[in-house]
Amino acid sequence: MNFYVMTLFPDMIRDGLNTSITGRAIAQGRISLNAVDIRDYSTDKYRHVDDYPYGGGAGMVMQPGPIFDCYTDLVKNMEKKPRVIYTTPQGRVFSQAVARELSAEENLIFLCGHYEGVDERVLEEIVTDHLSIGDYVLTGGELPAMVMIDAISRLVPGVLSNDTSAQDESFQDGLLEYPQYTRPEEFHGRKVPQVLLSGHHANIRRWRREKSLERTWQRRPELLEHAPLDKKDLEFLKRSFGYDSESSGKL
Ligand code: SAM
Repeated sequence: MNFYVMTLFPDMIRDGLNTSITGRAIAQGRISLNAVDIRDYSTDKYRHVDDYPYGGGAGMVMQPGPIFDCYTDLVKNMEKKPRVIYTTPQGRVFSQAVARELSAEENLIFLCGHYEGVDERVLEEIVTDHLSIGDYVLTGGELPAMVMIDAISRLVPGVLSNDTSAQDESFQDGLLEYPQYTRPEEFHGRKVPQVLLSGHHANIRRWRREKSLERTWQRRPELLEHAPLDKKDLEFLKRSFGYDSESSGKL
């Protein structure tokens, strides 16, 4: 899978993603990362890429020309037009489901805004997806692009090693993950739950499922409404917390 990032701060993107698991995936060729400096497409001798907003108001706006030329250069050898993601607080909120959907693409282009944002006309021409990482405003789109690339990359086959599968993780099956423990067996007087030391796989699976349900109920109860729950799950939730799926848990 190939990621392209149109940005004013390519080093920030490279430094952020060329480490740890994404860095290893890049080194192994499982994903590729090409961070392109939009300033390289400025026609101004001072490499300006922003200007004052028409209509007045505070701040600067990124000009359409350099972004469009940067995009044209990126896609010129691609057979199919890729999805182009503009990171913006005005977009659909990024989630594990969106990460999964995007992980099936061969090429993805991210556009990182700065200042007051980007001239609307170039967004209309090239952007296919407006995505936000949450309801708050950051100074630029680099951190959101890195967040999304990290979440998408770890779903690309071979990026996680076999023993760190994305299979059991939070949101993968609509629930939060169960608690995890490692050595020592006792820490500050707190013991690892006995069942995890038992070697009884069926009991461990059931315990983890119930902890996952309990944690989701306690921390993100709204997720239960859309999670695929079987009869045993529903019985457990009703018995333990009085959860009633028909009234969406609002007992
Ligand atoms: N004036 C814009 C608005 O109100 O929608 C905000 C501009 S913000 C200061 C600068 C850039 O940061 C945006 O163009 C966008 O690329 C990025 N950004 C800021 N917050 C974001 C968020 N929550 N999710 C994704 N991108 C964000």
